Amino acid sequence: VIHIKYNEIYHTNKEKFFGHVPDIQWNDWKWQIRNGIRNFDDLIKYFPLLEKNREKLLKTNFFITPYFLSLIDLDRLEMNKNKMKIYDPIARQVIPSVEEFSCNLDEKTDPFSEFHKSPLTGCVKRYKDRILILPTNICAGYCRYCTRKWNWNSGYLIKREDIKNIKKYIGSNPSIREVIISGGDPFLIPVGFLDELIYEMISIDTVEVIRIATRLPAFLPQRINREISGILKKYKSLWVITHFNHPDEITPATQEAVENLMAGNAALANQTVMLKGVNDGYEILKKLFYSLESLRIKPYYIFHCDPVKGTSHFKVPLKSGLKLMNRLRRNISGLSIPLYVMDLPGKGKIPVTDEIIR
Ligand code: SF4
Repeated sequence: VIHIKYNEIYHTNKEKFFGHVPDIQWNDWKWQIRNGIRNFDDLIKYFPLLEKNREKLLKTNFFITPYFLSLIDLDRLEMNKNKMKIYDPIARQVIPSVEEFSCNLDEKTDPFSEFHKSPLTGCVKRYKDRILILPTNICAGYCRYCTRKWNWNSGYLIKREDIKNIKKYIGSNPSIREVIISGGDPFLIPVGFLDELIYEMISIDTVEVIRIATRLPAFLPQRINREISGILKKYKSLWVITHFNHPDEITPATQEAVENLMAGNAALANQTVMLKGVNDGYEILKKLFYSLESLRIKPYYIFHCDPVKGTSHFKVPLKSGLKLMNRLRRNISGLSIPLYVMDLPGKGKIPVTDEIIR
């Protein structure tokens, strides 16, 4: 038994909006993808207030699974001076907003120049001992604060030829010991192909660890089924890095997904992004980290929001972020607390400390 208090809005919404959908379909990840909200006219059926901002929002990319939509409290959206204000922490992460069109000078489309740090198609190299592979740019939801918005053009899947070239590149760079497979979401590519990709990478003599970064346990936990466990189980030294930002993203379906990752013998850790109006509160983060610990997912990093264009409404000032994390550190166990870091262009991840702020 895992003692996590789940958000009840999920069951209310599921019943209200999708009560006619049989469980067999609801639990089918392909049904969730087919029925996801991907165009503006479908979006305003749930969020009619967005109609006022139609012209601008038509230019944005978004996708929301019926499952993730059911976690949103639709009463926590308001119209304020012709702009829809999103107070619900789940909605804020995936519903496009006109706030994205304001931009600070320090914000960039590709803040870490990943596009230019790509020695070959489908990979990014920022660190000496590891390489990042982006096998797809498709996600089961588009986080409004995403660092990789530069990659949000029409969907792609890495080619076998690219994998061959990356393998050759890693083979001639023996300092690379870890391959990070991210995206997009790697668990959205055909499983056989994912298996092939992991196999090709782990069979390089110098590669010791494979890390898969995924947001599906939050957006589409139905996908993390036995088929995925079966693939993961074939490999040792494999980590899965989840991405949860708010405790309401954790449901019984998440729990099942996590059990399937564990059945695949993967080690689990979580990354969170500290976001204003989503999780910049003591009780919220405490509940999130405790819930992750109960699920046996180690809270690993909490990131200061990256300087991506159109994300200033998500920024928590560093000083407030540090104060919040210091308070958590004093009051919760070391096992449940992640490291508060900021990613600096050219420098990598730096722990946020008083000296950094000064
Ligand atoms: S799931 Fe990851 S890659 Fe996809 S939009 Fe969210 S942060 Fe970006």
